[in-house]
Amino acid sequence: MDSLKPKIAIIGAGHVGSTFAFSLMLSGLAREIVLIDQNESLAVGECMDLNQGVSFAHPTKIYPAGFEGCENADIVVITAGANQKPTETRMDLVQKNVAIFKEIVPAVAKHTKDAILLVVTNPVDILTYVTLKLSGFPANRVIGSGTVLDTARLKYMISDYAQVDTNNIHAYIIGEHGDTELPVWSNATIGGMDIETYCSEYAQQGNAKNELKEIFQKVKNSAYEIIKRKGATNYSIALSLVKITRAILRDENSILPVSTLISDYYGISDVCISIPSIVNKQGVEQYVKIDLSDEEQELFKHSANTLKGFIKGIGL
Ligand code: NAD
Repeated sequence: MDSLKPKIAIIGAGHVGSTFAFSLMLSGLAREIVLIDQNESLAVGECMDLNQGVSFAHPTKIYPAGFEGCENADIVVITAGANQKPTETRMDLVQKNVAIFKEIVPAVAKHTKDAILLVVTNPVDILTYVTLKLSGFPANRVIGSGTVLDTARLKYMISDYAQVDTNNIHAYIIGEHGDTELPVWSNATIGGMDIETYCSEYAQQGNAKNELKEIFQKVKNSAYEIIKRKGATNYSIALSLVKITRAILRDENSILPVSTLISDYYGISDVCISIPSIVNKQGVEQYVKIDLSDEEQELFKHSANTLKGFIKGIGL
């Protein structure tokens, strides 16, 4: 089967998958987009709706398919699975979504050997590891969206507090995409200045240290707050996925906190977790050994060990 390139296959046409397809169509990055969902009627309906708007965007071939739709894909984005209910944590989804991945990943791997697999379904770090093991793909080509979204949330909230362009804020959330994640304040900067010093000097109100602490708590609880009100998160994750997709397709060498397999990172190995990583057409070309304070190192190890505990429980 001939494909138009670049080709992106999206598995799961729910809130996240369909909003990503829409954002991708607007971006013009993909020439071909395939939507795959066990709810075939949903995938068909979403494609009809997207196609009927294509004349306002960029020429893009968009169609529903089975897993054979992954053939010749440059990137397969996996968003299929259960999402959080208002009282659930991401980890509450482990059993349900691991079972779904045991069906999906072999089906994807059957139809593509060369794609980059981008995992979004939660708990994303655990499922990135599961995807790596079940696909047999090299680690650089199995990526989780990780804390790219959390980092965007952090930048937005700091920009709102400090009244500064998000592009001038250099700060990362690393670790689990979830309750044990951590901000790396020790080397966060705004305009080349240490972030706390900048905020103490230029933000209009409050004690900078306390305000930044509070901002991080809000970042960590963002998904709960949004899901409580609208049942899902879709826009900001979709745009995070466009950013990662762009970095891959355009070989940008963007440093993004995606979830990737680490080896002896602050003594931690054999877990997929978010750290700043160089993303390009190889996937994760390599990751960056960011300087962490002693406290951050402890928090990072706790986060990684929490994930490892869950991975052990799965028994792959
Ligand atoms: P949703 O329920 O709207 O969509 C999920 C879709 O997956 C459904 O259409 C369902 O039919 C499909 N599906 C289920 N099993 C399948 C299978 N075996 N094969 C093919 N399709 C299958 O959920 P959503 O709101 O789109 O969220 C999807 C996932 O993304 C959830 O796990 C959610 O927690 C996660 N998520 C992750 C992030 C992140 O930052 N990583 C952000 C938001 C949501």
